Amino acid sequence: MATFKFSVLPGDYIGPEVMEVALDVLKTACGKEGHKLDYTVCAVGGAGIDKFGKALPDQTVETCRNSDAILFGSVGGPKWEHLPSNEQPERAALLPLRKIFKLFANIRPGLLYPQLADASPLKTERIPNGIDIVCIRELTGGIYFGEKKTFTNPDGETAASDTMSYKVSEIERIAEVAAKTAMARGKKVCSIDKANVLETSVLWRKTVSEYFRKNFPEIELSHLYVDNAAMQLARDPNQFDVFFTENMFGDILSDEMAVICGSLGMLCSASLGIGKNSIGLKFGLYEPAGGTAPDIAGKGIANPCAQILSSALMLRYSFGEDALASRIEKAVRDTVCSGIRTADIAFGMKAVSTKEMGEAIKSRL
Ligand code: NAD
Repeated sequence: MATFKFSVLPGDYIGPEVMEVALDVLKTACGKEGHKLDYTVCAVGGAGIDKFGKALPDQTVETCRNSDAILFGSVGGPKWEHLPSNEQPERAALLPLRKIFKLFANIRPGLLYPQLADASPLKTERIPNGIDIVCIRELTGGIYFGEKKTFTNPDGETAASDTMSYKVSEIERIAEVAAKTAMARGKKVCSIDKANVLETSVLWRKTVSEYFRKNFPEIELSHLYVDNAAMQLARDPNQFDVFFTENMFGDILSDEMAVICGSLGMLCSASLGIGKNSIGLKFGLYEPAGGTAPDIAGKGIANPCAQILSSALMLRYSFGEDALASRIEKAVRDTVCSGIRTADIAFGMKAVSTKEMGEAIKSRL
């Protein structure tokens, strides 16, 4: 019996709707094992701006610091789009959270059940068994965090530059996450870079090769250039098992993977920190891959599965409860595959509401 201490940041539009259902499922799953949830709900994003004048209020950060994990909804939407870009909910809440908690590894499962193959833009004959891969993206280094400047050249023309740099230690720690993920799956990793052009990629490839040779010789390691990887992902996603890459390449490839896997309502993610939490495991932020879906907010029809699956990842990575996480994942799969669907994945079937979906998942736990 354990107590799981985490912060809940529901955010905006559908964020609170899917969060309510995810917490309900989490309570049921944990309650069955005698575990307790100790969580505090905090304002973030537009909700933070409305309540405290800031997308990431100080009291929210403080609560997160006293937690072992963050369960995050999603932030932003038309209500706050008039604000200057550096005050926009996503930029002013999510990016600082990643920085404060040094969330260096973003793990995004690319999972499409065969029963949902129609949701993918790929021809179903290309993915007869659905899709089951994992994308791991380095999240705190590279060009997004390097020196940026806009300047005037001697000839008077305006120019701008962004700097990409990586240290060996940054490459090794993301390689470790990829290796450990692969050890629990097919022991197959593809590292993606642009070593034919970029100096950072030359170092990346050398460091990754040495790291795997020394620490995980049992893993089958391959390398791909990012342009080829983008094509291979669209051609035959299941040729990958676990792939990992630097920040900007991962930003693009993870979105390509998301679209290939169909509805955003089904895709979850984990962003893991550098340090250990109070129970000696990884601190992490867990969130759906999609945004706040303002077009369907308030109608009670959003798909809660991505949020529920994010909470399962939290149990696995920040609380060490792999079996419990798998039980929730199985309940989601059984529910969807038995034909109980929210509108985004209904494809002509009768659609259920957000809450009905949650009840159906709970009943299968
Ligand atoms: P979005 O992901 O919110 O929506 C894209 C489409 O997917 C919409 O048609 C939406 O209805 C659908 N969708 C997304 N999640 C769904 C769910 N759970 N169930 C059913 N359908 C779902 O992307 P957008 O419309 O480009 O962005 C809306 C807002 O969300 C913007 O303000 C954007 O900045 C923000 N956003 C936030 C995050 C985040 O907080 N991490 C991520 C992406 C976008």
